Amino acid sequence: MDTGHAVRRIGVLTSGGDAPGMNAAIRAVVRKGVFHGLEVFGIQHGYAGLIRGEMARMDLNSVADIIQRGGTKLFTARSEEFKTPAGRAKAIEQLQKVGIEGLVVIGGDGSFRGAQELSHHGVRTVGIPGTIDNDIPGTDYTIGFDTAVNTVIDAIDKIRDTATSHERTYVIEVMGRNAGDIAMISGLAGGAESILIPESHFDMELVLEKLRRGLERGKRHSIILVAEGVGKGMKIGERIRQETGWEVRVTVLGHLQRGGSPTVFDRVLASRMGAYAVDLLRTGKNNVVIGLQGKKLVALGVDEALSMKREFDMPLYELAGILSI
Ligand code: ADP
Repeated sequence: MDTGHAVRRIGVLTSGGDAPGMNAAIRAVVRKGVFHGLEVFGIQHGYAGLIRGEMARMDLNSVADIIQRGGTKLFTARSEEFKTPAGRAKAIEQLQKVGIEGLVVIGGDGSFRGAQELSHHGVRTVGIPGTIDNDIPGTDYTIGFDTAVNTVIDAIDKIRDTATSHERTYVIEVMGRNAGDIAMISGLAGGAESILIPESHFDMELVLEKLRRGLERGKRHSIILVAEGVGKGMKIGERIRQETGWEVRVTVLGHLQRGGSPTVFDRVLASRMGAYAVDLLRTGKNNVVIGLQGKKLVALGVDEALSMKREFDMPLYELAGILSI
């Protein structure tokens, strides 16, 4: 949506779950903003900090030495208060007090809904998809996903070493409540025997049959990747143990998937998205989110983006199944 005059003073915040590459995006917003003569304010602790007025002017130096760091320099938070009209009124008051006309929100779909609410009250907003789960519609990739799958791959490779030595079955639980992307991509790249994801019903009998077939043709170990949305890795491991009598070990990767230095892909994506967000605000856009479609960045209306169906790459998932036959 186009809304006229360009902004002079903008803010940036990170919200919801953190993701590697958020810092690179903050850096890009600040530097691209300064490049165009804008004043850029960093808002700490997401919407919770915005309500409390936790903001400070950022300059070129304040984002030095962060492109390689995981997490977010601006901290992140969830805010129940912001979900209420009274909470949002406080947030708008804080922005008006400082004269911030445009806001870049780096986060997930919940954070975008929050930004949309602000945009209805005269603040121009641009959302940048930052979450390791890759579960945001309208974009092929979210910032942080590539780093997370590389972390998972590292873990799979290490677990494979011990799995081979001890000739055991390993269940690895990875993040992904609604989206199986982390499990699918890292399972394909890590050569997992089975990948259990929320997008596809799984039949335990088939999983076990595959394991047995592998054993018969001399496979000494197996790795089963489970997205948390499917169920607890512990439970699935226990079931395999009960039904086969094999020794099964379970590893829950948990929050280590959220950390670490962002990959080249995430740094570049975050840099491009951060800079594009500033361009969108400068050209008067409002209530949009950025997506990567193919090689191009696009700006979509929040409603349009969030109502799009996320396309899970089922052929790639099927290929992973074929290659681990
Ligand atoms: P994510 O952005 O990663 O999806 P959340 O869903 O927890 O994370 O959302 C982050 C924050 O965004 C919430 O704590 C809340 O303050 C705000 N938010 C989420 N949904 C809404 C909504 N429908 N309206 C207003 N604010 C929202």
